[in-house]
Parts: sequence; structure tokens; C-alpha cells
Amino acid sequence: MPNIVVVGAGVSGLTTALLLSKNSSYKVTIIARHMPGDYDIEYTSPWAGANFLPFSTKEGSRWEKGTWPELARLAKDVPEAGIHFQEALIYNRNKDAGGPVTDWFNDLLSTNPWFKDLVPNFRVLPKSSMPAGADSGTAFTSVCINTAIYLPYLVSQCLANGVVLKRAVISHISEAAMFHHSGKKADVIVNCTGLLASKLGGVMDTTVIPARGQIVVVRNTPGSMFTISGTDDGEDEVCYIMQRAAGGGTILGGTYQKGNWESQPDPNTAVRIMKRAVEICPELVEKGQGIEGLSVIRHGVGLRPLRKDGVRIEKEKIEGTWVVHNYGHGGYGYQTSYACSQGAMDLVDEVLSPKANL
Ligand code: FAD
Repeated sequence: MPNIVVVGAGVSGLTTALLLSKNSSYKVTIIARHMPGDYDIEYTSPWAGANFLPFSTKEGSRWEKGTWPELARLAKDVPEAGIHFQEALIYNRNKDAGGPVTDWFNDLLSTNPWFKDLVPNFRVLPKSSMPAGADSGTAFTSVCINTAIYLPYLVSQCLANGVVLKRAVISHISEAAMFHHSGKKADVIVNCTGLLASKLGGVMDTTVIPARGQIVVVRNTPGSMFTISGTDDGEDEVCYIMQRAAGGGTILGGTYQKGNWESQPDPNTAVRIMKRAVEICPELVEKGQGIEGLSVIRHGVGLRPLRKDGVRIEKEKIEGTWVVHNYGHGGYGYQTSYACSQGAMDLVDEVLSPKANL
């Protein structure tokens, strides 16, 4: 009966624990400083939109390709997960090409992307249907996840499978081994600490940095999700809109500020975010209205755990215990969650196999 401790209760830790708990011989404990229900600058998952907009290149598309079917299944068959299908409209301005933000989602902006046969209803938009300034555009059916429902849903699925959740703060990854609910030392630790992998003893991955995202959550309904390749308000400001499932409000974004740890929303940035949203989607407000037509629920800031070489799914023996890493998901932690967690689970299976311990 292998004992496994998963560190982290964000979308990465919860999804990995859920997949592990489907193997009835695994006894899984989740320990975390923050749990669903908490809002904290060191806990990214509650702040995400979150939708499925593939950012990877064709070569790196494994995690997104492997996650879409599960998100689509949840949207179709599991209403209590808090995920619904939504139309996504992607606009591209040629003048944004090569910028620091567009650079990481070139494939999303393409009119012939690798994912055109993965998502339903992919099509190229006629110029006449796009806002002024857009040079090309595409649309497809995506999903939007209400994180305030989805994270507790993952917790409930874990609990149903016997996973034990505990609050704990560790300062070195090897300490996690002592927190298994059996009272015995864990055989494997799974590291899903997100941004804090940059500060955790035994890991200290300094290639993980925050990409700060400021958002405004409103009650207004846009009808579709919108994203555009850039803004005229600075290179680290972005513009997107997504309507969460089941009354979760609409997320207006945002910013993509690398290396910025500031936890407080900036009021001037918030005004720019709202102005851009109304410009790209005038249907958000009544005819003739500007941002005064928006009904604000709250302002927020989340820090995307951006890793220089992309997500880290690796095994490593640290102070005599196997550690499987699953962190560094940047702005794509939900849309890669199932495949990344499956990848982490494959490594757990591997290190627990008799061969690995000969
Ligand atoms: P986290 O959610 O940060 O969880 C880390 C966990 O580890 C927490 O429970 C924390 O308490 C715990 N922990 C850390 N250190 C310790 C320690 N020392 N001791 C104990 N516990 C510890 N992704 C998408 O796929 N689609 C989107 O549309 C999208 N939109 C986004 C919009 C914004 C504004 C932001 C900020 C992010 C967005 N993302 C999106 C990205 C996504 O939110 C992240 O990639 C994802 O949430 C990372 O999850 P995680 O579980 O790895 O980390």
C-alpha cells in the first residue's frame, strides 16, 4: 500500500491527487498552505478565468491535446463541475507580432493552428465581423471554468476516493514525507507548489517567476469569450473576456507582468482593463454606455507560475525520498491539468515499480 503525499491544493495538486486516488492501492494525503475557498497572492488557481485557449506550439501540444477531452466531457456530462462550453473569438493585430506577450501565443493567433481539428467549430472570421484594428481572427467552441465551483468539485471527488486533506506549511520538500495521514513516512512526494517552487527548500527553482495578472470580475454578460493579440496601453497589458459557468461572473483581463509580485490591484490599470473590454465587446453594457455600465463584483490579482522551460514533470530523489514534480504551468494550468497530472502519475507508478527500487 504505497503512501503518497501531494504538496499543493491548486488545480495541479488536486487533479494529480484525484488521478492517483483512482488506484485503490494508493493512499493519498494532500497537504497545502492554501486550500479552495482561500484567496491569496501565493495561491494562483482561484484567480484564473479559466478557459481553454491553446498557447503551445504543435511540438509542445501534448499537455493541451491530452486535457481537452476531459474538460469537454465535464462540460457536457458533469454540470456540478462548474464548466460550460463557450464560443471563443480570437482577434489578431499584425502590429503586435513579435511582442513579448504575443510571442508565447503565436499558434493561438494563427488562422491555421494545430488545434483546429481538436476543438469544435473552428473557423476563420470574416474581416467584416471583427472590431476596428483587427487584421485577422478565428473562432471555436471552448470551455470556461468557474474556479470557485471547480476547485471544490475536485476536492469532493478526492474525498469520495479516500484522499485526506490537511493544512501544513513546509520549508523543505523532504519534510512532506512526515505528513502522511497513516503516520508512516511517505514513499513518494508529489510537488505541486506552483510559484512557490521558486522558494521551497530542496527545489529552489529560480527559473519560476510570477507573470502578474490583474483582473476585474463583473456581473455583465458578454455572450462569448474574447481575446486580442495586444493593446495600445503598454507591452505588458492584455485584453480578454470570459464568462464563467453557473453565475460565476465575467472575468475582464488583464495584465501579463513578468517578475512583478505586487498583490494589490492598481486602480488605473483596472480602468484601462474595463475600457478595453467595453471597446472589444460593446454588448457588455447597454447601448451608449461606457465603463459606468459595468457592475463590478471585485478586483483581483493572481500570479501565473511562469517557468522558463515550461512545465516541470520530472522525478528526482531528494534526501532519500522520491519526489515527482508537477509545477510551472504559467497561464495554462487548467488547460493542461489532466495531461500534466497523468504525466506526474505515470512517474509515480514508475518510481513505485519494483524495478525502480532494485
Ligand atoms: P497554485 O494554484 O498556486 O497552488 C499551489 C499550492 O501549493 C497551494 O495550495 C499552496 O498553498 C501550496 N504550497 C506552495 N508552497 C507550499 C509550502 N511551502 N507548504 C505547503 N503548501 C505549499 N490557466 C488556464 O489554463 N486557463 C486560463 O484561462 C487561465 N487564466 C488565468 C488568469 C489569471 C489572471 C491567472 C493569474 C492565471 C491564469 N491561468 C489560467 C493559470 C492557472 O491559474 C495556473 O497555471 C494554475 O492555477 C497553477 O496551479 P498550481 O496548482 O500549479 O498552483
